[in-house]
Amino acid sequence: KKKVIIIGSGIAGIAASIRMAIAGCEVEVFEANTYPGGKLSEITLGRYRFDAGPSLFTLPEQVEELFTLAGQDVNDHFKFKKLDITCQYFWENGQRVRAFGDIEKFAEEMNTKIGEPVVNIRKALQSAAYIYEHLSPLFMHRSLHKWNTWMNPHALRSYLKMGKLGIFDTMNAANEKLFEKDKTIQLFNRYATYNGSNPYQTPATLNIIPHLEFNIGAFFPEKGMHDITLSLYKLSKDLGVKYHFGQKVTEILVKDKRAYGIAIDKMEHRADTIINNMDMVNAYKTILKNQYQPTKLLNQPKSSSALIFYWGIKKHFPELELHNILFSDAYQKEFEHIFHQKTIYKDPTIYINITSVHKPDDAPEGGMNWFTMINVPNNQGQNWDNLIQEARQNIIHKVNRILNTDIESLIEVEEVLDPRSIELKTSSAQGSLYGNSSNNKYAAFLRHANFSSSIKNLYFCGGSVHPGGGIPLCLLSAKIMAEMALKHQ
Ligand code: FAD
Repeated sequence: KKKVIIIGSGIAGIAASIRMAIAGCEVEVFEANTYPGGKLSEITLGRYRFDAGPSLFTLPEQVEELFTLAGQDVNDHFKFKKLDITCQYFWENGQRVRAFGDIEKFAEEMNTKIGEPVVNIRKALQSAAYIYEHLSPLFMHRSLHKWNTWMNPHALRSYLKMGKLGIFDTMNAANEKLFEKDKTIQLFNRYATYNGSNPYQTPATLNIIPHLEFNIGAFFPEKGMHDITLSLYKLSKDLGVKYHFGQKVTEILVKDKRAYGIAIDKMEHRADTIINNMDMVNAYKTILKNQYQPTKLLNQPKSSSALIFYWGIKKHFPELELHNILFSDAYQKEFEHIFHQKTIYKDPTIYINITSVHKPDDAPEGGMNWFTMINVPNNQGQNWDNLIQEARQNIIHKVNRILNTDIESLIEVEEVLDPRSIELKTSSAQGSLYGNSSNNKYAAFLRHANFSSSIKNLYFCGGSVHPGGGIPLCLLSAKIMAEMALKHQ
């Protein structure tokens, strides 16, 4: 049996372990934390439970596929449902829009509430589907670092359609052409934040994202997001994968350009294949510090980070949904602050995720668990304590204005997560949520490959390598990586 060692039990590390175990390998995972899941974990504060990181679940078939490969039915182990209302949007002037999963209903809502012609919404989502159809086989399902990805009939057909695929416009410019109303443009620009990018810079290709949410669907795991981690972790253990927690790998052992094991301080563990799920920038600084450094890739600008207030709220707000957005009145300024001035704008867009809407036992009766998040710059050594204090006040005032409440008096318990603690807990460079940002059209080509070109037997998966961050892409990175690693064993 071939022996495989995986460094990190982020969602991609767990998915990789499943794929390698199914292929007959003996797999061991070494994880620095005392729990699996990395960013996809949970916290409990008194009587409130919170999903700690990701809150939006798309492309569940990527999870399903792992159960199917193992010969199991996903429904027996992991339950999720499609959301009727994917998100609710609030503006300062009292306007409110519900984004229905049903496209016709959503288009109707945008028309009645905002005045956007129905046909524009339909067209935008058709165009998103078009981009997905042409680009996902190339950019999501294959390595970009192998010639056969580029030299096949599908790829060649896609080259001819570059213009229509949004390579030449920014997301905002494309949305300005697609829509009449500023609020619709703002709503669709927000999708850039799904991978931590700036809609005023990122190519319109990222208009692929609304396709995932509307045409395919947004989902909610019945036991919360953390159940994605728990159910895949259980599957992996059932397949015989061994986990070692509280084990921070200090070095990937390499001899004659071949990886042959890992070290945890003086303790060595040998394997035929080494898979790294740790953030690549920090991996090259630590466990690969004696190896060739692909500086250009590592120095690419990172995605934005997040400031999260986990608030146990002792009141029920019937007007709130699972996903709620309180929009900034000056969206472009907000992004200028995040990406150029590297600070936090005084009127930030606030995202409130409340799992107790669908999973009532996440909060005591009459209460709600508010995961209150704003997008912030990644960590560049800013004075975070000051920024957090100011942002907290601005968030409270905005929530009070829009929901006509006094939210501070309703906060029963509180915990804060910021770019510094994100990096500490998950090793993510600068606390970025999604690895590199996608703020230029070459970003997809400037992510690290899923294999090492200079060291044999060494492979990579996770949000900081191809195809990028976010749960579905991380799961795909494990798939692309495992196919390559197994072929070369
Ligand atoms: P990570 O979760 O980054 O985990 C890496 C693991 O490696 C960690 O457990 C770490 O402890 C371990 N490790 C690091 N160094 C070592 C070492 N030396 N030795 C041993 N172990 C080590 N995605 C979505 O799809 N939807 C969302 O709504 C969403 N929202 C997000 C909100 C927040 C606040 C955050 C933080 C992220 C969000 N994401 C979202 C992104 C998503 O969480 C990540 O892309 C994904 O979880 C990353 O998985 P990963 O496999 O790269 O590993």
